[in-house]
Amino acid sequence: MSLYIPFHNTYARLPERFFAQQAPTPVRAPKLLAFNAPLAASLGITGTDDTTRLAQVFSGSVVPDGAEPLAQLYSGHQFGNWNPQLGDGRAVLLGESNGYDIQLKGSGPTPFSRRGDGRSWLGPVLREYVVSEAMHALGIPTTRALAAVSTGEDVFRERPLPGGVMTRVASSHLRVGTFQALYARKDVEGLETLMNFAITRHYPDAQTPTEFLAAVIAAQAELIARWMSVGFIHGVMNTDNCSISGETIDYGPCAFMDGYNPMQVFSSIDRNGRYAFDNQSEIIVWNMAQLATTLVPLMPDGEAAVETFTALVHDMPNQIRSHQTRLFAAKIGLTDAREGDQALIDDLLDLMAKDSADFTNTFRSLSAGSASDQLIDREAFGAWERRWQDRLQSEPNDPQTTMRAANPALIPRNHRIEEMIAAAVEGDMAPFERLMAALATPFTDPGDFADLTRPPMDTERVHQTFCGT
Ligand code: AMP
Ligand code: MG
Repeated sequence: MSLYIPFHNTYARLPERFFAQQAPTPVRAPKLLAFNAPLAASLGITGTDDTTRLAQVFSGSVVPDGAEPLAQLYSGHQFGNWNPQLGDGRAVLLGESNGYDIQLKGSGPTPFSRRGDGRSWLGPVLREYVVSEAMHALGIPTTRALAAVSTGEDVFRERPLPGGVMTRVASSHLRVGTFQALYARKDVEGLETLMNFAITRHYPDAQTPTEFLAAVIAAQAELIARWMSVGFIHGVMNTDNCSISGETIDYGPCAFMDGYNPMQVFSSIDRNGRYAFDNQSEIIVWNMAQLATTLVPLMPDGEAAVETFTALVHDMPNQIRSHQTRLFAAKIGLTDAREGDQALIDDLLDLMAKDSADFTNTFRSLSAGSASDQLIDREAFGAWERRWQDRLQSEPNDPQTTMRAANPALIPRNHRIEEMIAAAVEGDMAPFERLMAALATPFTDPGDFADLTRPPMDTERVHQTFCGT
């Protein structure tokens, strides 16, 4: 049976000014490095045995039947600066399958490429593959990884590097920046069409722009709280990397923290720490304010709209805080947070920050009874643990069970990702396979993967991460 993808292309039916028709550019020698068979099955894709065919299709060398490849238009605020001309510069949407977008990333230039080559090297492709699938296994809304292909061509960055194409699956690629693009063009009719498309696809209960905005805010509030509950730093929360569906999207210089530091930054281009760990809960509110701005022209009374939207945006920090309290309460074994629990959580985080205690391992050790081995100031921590034990006396459920489901043992640590990429470039995919196997069940005891729970040694530590470009 040959490869079949049941395409159904609703985005391609939208007004032509929303995108540019664009076929992917064939590559010299496509080779399939990874393929997510269970995800393919859930998308209704069949006939996936022929890896040569998979490599052709998921490198963009052959356009499969039913696909209508296109590059989407969007704008965005990058590090707070308005950029009207973004859009898919190195990606094409092949179409939708079972309601999900299938997009190739690194598939050649498009009308939105500006000065870029439309390509990606293998490092960011495999990085996104591993981290997005790890996020999914952690239960965090995210785009998924369907395939990774090496192209047999070099891409030129500071030096020649092996090229790759990533196939990404998303419930859509609509971004805050998609709305901003039409708003900036004063295209009110387009905005209306786009909002109705987004409502149909993601928030069918929303009847009005206000309800739509409220739904996006609710989804993003929970998403950011979830990121922070596992020590995830996105790294480039520009409005064009902020999805309408509330999924994590655009894995560039993202990273999981090892030692806890609320002001941690990894991205080489985030010089002022705009997207530092703790700032994420403020920046998302800023991003939602930008979305709100684009929806004002869709309201009958502009002034009243501004008031209504402002109230929604101003309430968002409360939503984020309440998600954070709930998620962090579970991380210390509490089913319901009560008065005083936030202080207990904050005091633990303060102790962890003071000692740069490993974020993941400290919480995981708590699940096993005590984390005193993770902290340097054992006296201060002992006092905290006594308060904690007191509080656990009135916990109705088994705290261990609650904590083990909230505190992963395994996260994709930066030094392991770097190690995996270095091996893959040499043609050795074993570290990739092993990471994928380990990260598929992050909450179970690591067993043979215990080495992957170890924080980096000084010589292994990754200090900076880079965008895919
Ligand atoms: P990102 O950092 O992935 O969010 O990308 C920001 C913008 O730059 C998007 O419009 C991308 O499509 C575009 N871009 C990034 N890398 C390339 C590249 N190698 N060639 C063309 N466009 C690119
Ligand atoms: Mg982006």
